[in-house]
Amino acid sequence: MKKRSYNYRRIKIHRNYTVEGIASLFDIHKNTVGVWIKEGLPTTDKKRPMLIQGRDLATFLQTRRLKNKKKCNPGEMYCVRCHAPSTPAGDMADYQPVNEKMGNLMAICFRCHSIMNRRVNLAKLEHVFGKIIITLPPALLHIADRNQPTTNSELEKVKKIC
Ligand SMILES: [Zn+2]
Repeated sequence: MKKRSYNYRRIKIHRNYTVEGIASLFDIHKNTVGVWIKEGLPTTDKKRPMLIQGRDLATFLQTRRLKNKKKCNPGEMYCVRCHAPSTPAGDMADYQPVNEKMGNLMAICFRCHSIMNRRVNLAKLEHVFGKIIITLPPALLHIADRNQPTTNSELEKVKKIC
């Protein structure tokens, strides 16, 4: 899902905005501004009408944009060298358990061939890495058929055992 980006350069940093004012500035529903406030957009006080400082709004949207940019989509891992989410080469990754629930997923960046790491929750592994073939460490391999690449149904078995 592509997130809409807001042109925060339209914001006058020395101005105070009402929720309605921000909504009309970006041509969005005021409920969206309400969500931003819940997400941490600072308001001047709790009184009505609630005011938001232009400077706070600009900072909030900039930070939010950076966060969105770095977020990996399913099947992606963040590559430190590329400074961007990337896809594992050959759609393959190695899973190293850290504890019963968490582990490190290691893969090679398809662009620059450097190693990427991502901390993953075992329960979410198949949801996040749907089409990627995940190799389990030898300690967990006895569960799966050694001659077959690990499939989601085998991961299901691993989860039950862990
Ligand atoms: Zn890379």
